[in-house]
Amino acid sequence: MFSFKSSKLFKLNKKSKFKVPTPIINDNLVITNIFYGKTLPPVGEFPRRTEIGEILFQSGTSRILSPVNGIAYFDNTQNSVHLRIDGELSFRPNYERQEFTYLELKTKLDNLGILSLDFSGYLISELMDTFTAGEGSIVVFSPYTQEGHIDFHSMLYTKLKPEVDAFKSTLESIFKKSKVMDFITDKPGPYRYPDGNPRYFISKKCNQPLEKEFPHKNVLYLGPETLYHIIQALYYNIPFHERHLSVSVINKKGVEEGEARVFRVKNGTNLTHFFDTILKKNNYRYFTINSIYNKQPVFEIGAEFLFDFLKHHSIILSESKNPTDVPGMCNDCNDCSYFCPVSADPRALLDKDKSSFQKDRCLECGLCSVYCPVQIDFYELIKTSKKDTQVYAVS
Ligand code: SF4
Ligand code: SF4
Repeated sequence: MFSFKSSKLFKLNKKSKFKVPTPIINDNLVITNIFYGKTLPPVGEFPRRTEIGEILFQSGTSRILSPVNGIAYFDNTQNSVHLRIDGELSFRPNYERQEFTYLELKTKLDNLGILSLDFSGYLISELMDTFTAGEGSIVVFSPYTQEGHIDFHSMLYTKLKPEVDAFKSTLESIFKKSKVMDFITDKPGPYRYPDGNPRYFISKKCNQPLEKEFPHKNVLYLGPETLYHIIQALYYNIPFHERHLSVSVINKKGVEEGEARVFRVKNGTNLTHFFDTILKKNNYRYFTINSIYNKQPVFEIGAEFLFDFLKHHSIILSESKNPTDVPGMCNDCNDCSYFCPVSADPRALLDKDKSSFQKDRCLECGLCSVYCPVQIDFYELIKTSKKDTQVYAVS
């Protein structure tokens, strides 16, 4: 496994001339039945004609919907549905501004497949049911996504502010004892990684203690991408069927170049041709998914790549792999601990006595590895140290 991690912080170089091409939608989409590790059974007879938003796979309230109008075939060998597009690609919004009871709200969000994009695998309705909404509890509208690649705050603030206000007032009437902390209709400061980490955000901005696990009972946290899809569903009846995908590049020095381009991509789209175009025109040969801070596999362009909107939100292209993947010896510079945003002291993980590493505070943001000048990778050390803890558990 290779890593794109660099000893430098990734800076944006706005002079880059690199232009990411627009992905071309294929007429054959492939939707798999895996929902955050859970296998969902298919729903209905196949082959059949489906509409955008129709259920293809479902177990309880977990469901995967059709992203297009088309003919659906079930592939028994791969437990996937192949969709051949035969109609309109865009969903026609049906604007419906209204108030919702708690039950109406949860039912509508479940029916339209809306889930948390901040806590993997949880539906919004599950987070709401876990939230006790007692005295001192808070509902948080956060302006930052985890990796900060896509500015959903601007989309919400400039185009959907009346809907954000309507949703906020609905939550205020449902969760009467809770305070809604709305960072969407305020102007947020510039994003700095890891501001979009939910545990970090509520400790930094909402005066909450930095706990080992996210306090779902006391805090209902909705990041801007999650809010975007909630609003699309509640007020425009748009099911979760596509996701914004940012595409950016890093150069040979490990520096992020140019502005990311953002596309709305249907679930199940085959991006192989898109990558081929980039390889032929621009010689970017490798890519990684979602993060340059956490250890990620690096893929070589050429193999088939299907966009799965439960797993992918960003693609980072590179001309070369990091050639020095072998770590050197620690020189005790202490940068790893100095740049740790929560003072968890990762340097202690290299000592015989590791007890001063604050594993319960650690966000697993990966900054200690990014800053280490000799490429020591803290990922496994942190995982080993935490192996008996369960992060982000919803009880
Ligand atoms: S120890 Fe490393 S991964 Fe954990 S919070 Fe600090 S910088 Fe991030
Ligand atoms: S692990 Fe890396 S960053 Fe930390 S003290 Fe050693 S050389 Fe410096």
